[in-house]
Amino acid sequence: MAEQVKYQLSESELPETWYNLAADLTDPSPMLHPGTGRPIEVADLLPIMPVELARQELSREREIEIPEPVRQLYAQWRPSPLFRARRLERALDTPARIYYKYEGGSPAGSHKPNTAIAQAYYNKEAGIEKLATETGAGQWGSSLALAGALFEIDVQVYMVKVSYHQKPYRKLLMETYGARCTPSPSKETEAGRAVLAADPDCPGSLGIATSEAVEIAVNDPATNYAGGSVLNHVLLHQSVLGQEAISQFALADDYPDIVIGCTGGGSNFGGLAFPFLGAQLRGGRRVRVIAAEPAACPTMTQGRLGYDFGDTAGLTPLLKMHTLGHSFVPPSLHAGGLRYHGMAPLVSEALAANLVEAAAVAQTKCFESGIRFARAEGIIPAPESTHAIEVAIREALRCKENGVGETILFGLSGHGHFDLGAYERYLSGQMRDDAIDQEALNAALAELPAFADA
Ligand SMILES: *Cc1c(COP(=O)(O)O)cnc(C)c1O
Repeated sequence: MAEQVKYQLSESELPETWYNLAADLTDPSPMLHPGTGRPIEVADLLPIMPVELARQELSREREIEIPEPVRQLYAQWRPSPLFRARRLERALDTPARIYYKYEGGSPAGSHKPNTAIAQAYYNKEAGIEKLATETGAGQWGSSLALAGALFEIDVQVYMVKVSYHQKPYRKLLMETYGARCTPSPSKETEAGRAVLAADPDCPGSLGIATSEAVEIAVNDPATNYAGGSVLNHVLLHQSVLGQEAISQFALADDYPDIVIGCTGGGSNFGGLAFPFLGAQLRGGRRVRVIAAEPAACPTMTQGRLGYDFGDTAGLTPLLKMHTLGHSFVPPSLHAGGLRYHGMAPLVSEALAANLVEAAAVAQTKCFESGIRFARAEGIIPAPESTHAIEVAIREALRCKENGVGETILFGLSGHGHFDLGAYERYLSGQMRDDAIDQEALNAALAELPAFADA
């Protein structure tokens, strides 16, 4: 075998610490208390999360130790492989070197167990009996259900109603792991009942489902909330991606010029890109970092940077982030995991500091590129991941046009085995690109909280 295509670290090379980008940013914006408008403190978060996670959420320490039981569970599929996409390079006839970091080998099929397992661990240690959460396409719900099974914690998932009906297999995966899954908006919570009173046919959104989960966590001392993205501690846990990738590039004797990830709330993107950005900020090599978002939910390219709620009912702390407005309901989208109104504050901060670029891509183009990738590399990507593939292919074709051989790394955040219904729609010519409703977006942006520009 002349061509090496797989860079695999041994189990003992699994990172021992998580990396926190907040340590290397000049002045990250604090979360604000929704009542007082003051910066959030650890105690404010304790009604919904254990103290260790609350500390991580507010931490500016650069490295935080990964508990040994978490590392041992990671070792089932980590370090995850880094592949060189030689066959895709040949299919594109590009001088670019394309690599991808593949997270589809986890038991739930995506990067999400990296944080689900860590969160379940800290909650178990704190004596919590139940975790409540929201899920869009179901990847987060199934990852938390997996973690709940491993740590014997009950899991209650509010699943966005359109996805609940479009993706029955994800729901069955959650139930197989022992979790309870309810379509959202539901009649189980005040937040859900209020939405249904105004719009009985509401398709749901991540913002609404988050309100339902936070509400039941706040009202029951034995129940906590677990977030699948956006929050600082979630991006922290995902930093194993980029740290492993840096070691794997050393094995390949190469280094990326461009790092690309798809962005829903920003966790796989931040997890992959931040360790490279951190190295750059501490005097290392410069990397171009590109966040790929859906044109139908263009948080970074069309949203506003300001303080907003993470949920629809306004129960969460205020986060300074790029947002479409917490009341905005994006059109339904096959990459349900990218259908969120806001962006991780750390990603927003990096974008505002010009450390990151954003690109909005249409879903039909993404599926075209995802299928091109599958036929060259053999892996069927999650619809979310096709957004990163589309941008990577675009950059590889630019390299071809300019005759330059840059090194491109993208995150392949998960496999698409539960999303074949979306592939069917694409292959049969029925997939459309829904435009966002500009008037509804303007109305949602006008409803941003009063200290949005603070
Ligand atoms: C959830 C999900 C995403 C989007 O979430 P981020 O927090 O932005 O990473 C992307 N890809 C896959 C496979 C997912 O499951």
